Amino acid sequence: MTTNQLMQESQSCVMNTYGRFPLAIQRGKGAKCWDFEGKEYIDFTSGIGVNALGFCHEGWAAAVIGQISTLTHTSNLYYTAPGVQVAKKLTESTGLSKMFFANSGAEANEGAVKLARKYSRDKYGEGRYEILTLVNSFHGRTVTTLSATGQEVFHRNFFPFTEGFSHAEANNISDVKSKVTEKTCAILLEMVQGEGGVLPLEEEFVRQVAALCKEKDLLLMVDEVQTGIGRTGKLFAYQHYGISPQVVTVAKGLGGGLPIGGFLVDESCQNVLGPGDHATTFGMNPVICAGASYLLDQVNTPAFLKDVAEKGEYLREKLAALPGVTQVRGKGLMLGVEIPGKPAANVVKAGIEKGLLLLTAKTAVRLLPPLNITYEEIDQGLAILNEILS
Ligand SMILES: *Cc1c(COP(=O)(O)O)cnc(C)c1O
Repeated sequence: MTTNQLMQESQSCVMNTYGRFPLAIQRGKGAKCWDFEGKEYIDFTSGIGVNALGFCHEGWAAAVIGQISTLTHTSNLYYTAPGVQVAKKLTESTGLSKMFFANSGAEANEGAVKLARKYSRDKYGEGRYEILTLVNSFHGRTVTTLSATGQEVFHRNFFPFTEGFSHAEANNISDVKSKVTEKTCAILLEMVQGEGGVLPLEEEFVRQVAALCKEKDLLLMVDEVQTGIGRTGKLFAYQHYGISPQVVTVAKGLGGGLPIGGFLVDESCQNVLGPGDHATTFGMNPVICAGASYLLDQVNTPAFLKDVAEKGEYLREKLAALPGVTQVRGKGLMLGVEIPGKPAANVVKAGIEKGLLLLTAKTAVRLLPPLNITYEEIDQGLAILNEILS
């Protein structure tokens, strides 16, 4: 199999919904992968923030393989162990109370929307169902999470969308206040807008939103699908802001490369959803949860998280010094780089030619390297980026 053969076959039978680059990845290890011709690439993407421990981490793979030959799947009508471990680890280390397991980020947010509406209905009766999100946010691709997504480009073609969402400007508390009505039941935020351009929220704004939520009994819901599980140098990005959300959604990094999603809730919401209210066939899959449980043991330690933060600082300084770079923003190993002279997509294309995988986010070149990338690999990637920008 060659790259060209695979591209042709794929184009003949796979729906054309992704603007794929002319690269076919055959195998990977840590922060490196190889195409079908054997060419090596340094990975500054982790999928899109998914492979938190890089490609095919040995201990993670062993946990997954061990579980795959013990118990692969059973329905959620019975108890299984690995998911309980994941929920236990995440609740114990956050002070949150309960977890629901889904299979993707969109589903995680979709579930959070249901929870918010029922929380409010149980407490206040009908008519209080609106959820406020931010302009430029991204919350998923289902019909409801597209409504939640505060970007006009996503609100075309698929009418009618789910009603009951409004969007306020990030870092503008008066806009938020003006859009909260007697119908509002929750505010859903990304602490660092990922798809929107790697834009961290300002601390003062987040504190004001949290205070407003408290005052009006709106659920404070944080979308940690991209920022969670160590990505920003803390287990969750909201922990940088000193707030206590009632709902936290997770996905991408938690599975280490396998599909998982879910949401954590605090005590006030732990009994909102009961038997029959919410479910998914594949949720809490034992194989995926065995990998996630292993991954949390690796990632959720003070030393590992400190290392992520330090590598993030190192990368940020080196990036800022590259030719043409005017701004580096983000937190930990979630970074956006503005290079006004070079369109981000061109930088990504040049990276593939020279052996470096990068992402874009709006006008920025986006970096989401594996959390355990080595300094040597960071330097290799930076050398390639330097070549591209020189
Ligand atoms: C990727 C992403 C989603 C959607 O996740 P899927 O697994 O693709 O459904 C939702 N929210 C944020 C912040 C994301 O980055």
